[in-house]
Amino acid sequence: MNFHIMTLFPEMVLQGLNTSIIGRAMEKGLINIEAVNIRDYAYNKHNKVDDYIYGGGAGMLMQAEPVYLCYEAIKEKIAYAKGDKSADVSGDCATDEKKSEDSTDNRDSAGTEHKCKDRLRVVYLTPQGEVFTQKKAEELAKEEDIILLCGHYEGIDERVLEEIVTDNISIGDYVLTGGELPAMIVVDSVSRLIPGVLNNDVSAEFESFQDGLLEYPQYSRPEIWHDKKVPEVLLSGHHANVDKWRHEQAVQRTRERRPDLYERYVSDSKNRT
Ligand code: SAM
Repeated sequence: MNFHIMTLFPEMVLQGLNTSIIGRAMEKGLINIEAVNIRDYAYNKHNKVDDYIYGGGAGMLMQAEPVYLCYEAIKEKIAYAKGDKSADVSGDCATDEKKSEDSTDNRDSAGTEHKCKDRLRVVYLTPQGEVFTQKKAEELAKEEDIILLCGHYEGIDERVLEEIVTDNISIGDYVLTGGELPAMIVVDSVSRLIPGVLNNDVSAEFESFQDGLLEYPQYSRPEIWHDKKVPEVLLSGHHANVDKWRHEQAVQRTRERRPDLYERYVSDSKNRT
């Protein structure tokens, strides 16, 4: 899987991602992460990519053209890598409208209908997007290429966002200085779903959110630490009892810590029966 990160601070994302599990996944060629400097596409001699905001207001805005040129360059590179100049990585949906009419499942995890199902995914990291979830990570993990667009300053000129962005993702209801940390979060969570990235594929299977519940508590050696003993059932070797205990703990923990998730879990369980 290939991540193409459009940013004004490429070293920040690359340095943050090239260690531990994600770094090893890059070394093994399971994922490829390129950070492309939007400033390289500035079309003035001072390499300026931001300007004042029409209508007034504090701060500066990233201009449309450098972002667009950077996107076009990445898009071409992807098409070239696919060995097909006509590969359907088009930013506009014209060629895809027929396909879209025929498709029954053009919705993303937020239920937003995408005009072009097979369109190259361009994710803008923005506090105005749908809040990122495990479900969205699973959806993105099916893509071969994803472009992640990081804003800075007061954000990006709306016109280029309208032209190129397919998904708006927020990592939470707070405002950061730039989209780099959110992009790194998306890359990390999507990458660990790629087969082979985690040593043990099972460890991605039984984790918080995957079945709508938070994960149960876990323990490692020693059996007693600070007078706290590992729950007896986990030492019993009785797999069915261990599974039952873990499920009960997951339900209890979700009810206590995330009542919103718990309510959804209960209503989904009722619908399934
Ligand atoms: N003026 C924008 C607004 O009020 O929506 C906020 C701009 S913010 C200071 C600069 C950049 O940081 C954004 O363009 C976005 O890329 C990124 N950013 C900030 N908070 C974010 C969040 N919660 N999730 C994702 N990206 C975020």
